[in-house]
Amino acid sequence: MSDFYHGADTRKYITPYLGKDIQYKISNARKMGKTVFIKAFPELATASCRNCGDMGYVYVDFCKAGPFPFPPSSGKAIITWFDGNQYTGKGWYIKDDTFPSAAPCPHCKIAEMNNATSS
Ligand SMILES: [Zn+2]
Repeated sequence: MSDFYHGADTRKYITPYLGKDIQYKISNARKMGKTVFIKAFPELATASCRNCGDMGYVYVDFCKAGPFPFPPSSGKAIITWFDGNQYTGKGWYIKDDTFPSAAPCPHCKIAEMNNATSS
């Protein structure tokens, strides 16, 4: 089964809620003037955890520059697209990879269980 989708995207997107640790990091980063956004993902009807789509993680982008109208080419920088909202402009951003981009899903705790069984 392929999840590749061509044409207009009519899927419903979920913006997950976050655990306290990552909320604290986001709040500090915003105080430092960084742009931060929470990654939405397409809803998966079969997922048992609707907050993360059974990925076990929720994803956050911490950015150090943007938005740009075109993908910036700056060496090894990781870039990401954001559709914009009332706080953050639409466009391309350069990620700040000194910040973590994944945090364990606070709802299903799948990531925590995986960590516990693999150690
Ligand atoms: Zn989850």
